[in-house]
Amino acid sequence: MTPFHLATDFRALLKDFDLASLDEHRAVIFGIRHDFTIGYANHSWYCHAQENDGSGILLDPRPLNAYSLLDAISGPLLTFYEDLYARLFEHAGEHDHDYECSTPHQIRHYQMRLIPLPAYAETPRGLLSINSQFIPDRPVINHQPVKSPLLDDYMTDDGLLICCSNCRRFRFRRDRHRWDWIPTFLRAPPVNLSHGLCEVCLDYYYPSLSA
Ligand SMILES: [Zn+2]
Repeated sequence: MTPFHLATDFRALLKDFDLASLDEHRAVIFGIRHDFTIGYANHSWYCHAQENDGSGILLDPRPLNAYSLLDAISGPLLTFYEDLYARLFEHAGEHDHDYECSTPHQIRHYQMRLIPLPAYAETPRGLLSINSQFIPDRPVINHQPVKSPLLDDYMTDDGLLICCSNCRRFRFRRDRHRWDWIPTFLRAPPVNLSHGLCEVCLDYYYPSLSA
């Protein structure tokens, strides 16, 4: 069985939850402290991290306990999550957010629920993030793959591929409004990746960032 992680200080914050259920839950569940370090991560977290493999979170010699979640977030979403977590630590309350986290093989949509810890405390000392995969009624993004894409059509003058942090499509070089789904680039990026947000994701998933 894959491991799960529970820091000693985090056990008290999760006292209202059935730990065995959290550990075995299909959803990716993790808990963060005020400084965004990770106090709890369930089995699915590790499975998910292994599948994605991009963040190197499993390769890092630091124990998960000392890891800031923000280290695993790149591009414009860093601001989004920093603001969101800070707001919830200040004002408590629950929060729901949808996002995409697709792999080259599978388009995946997630619904995230953030719960203040201890459960529904007015002054939270932690946050629990529950990320459940769901199938949307109607996909927002067109994930029709581009056949035989040319690297030159996507590489910037600086030799980068710009990848949307949410839908993971790539920006077309000559038309900044066009983003394409290219699983081959995602599987093994031929050049360095840089992260951005396409206009659809910005408007639909992260409108607070477009202000
Ligand atoms: Zn996008």
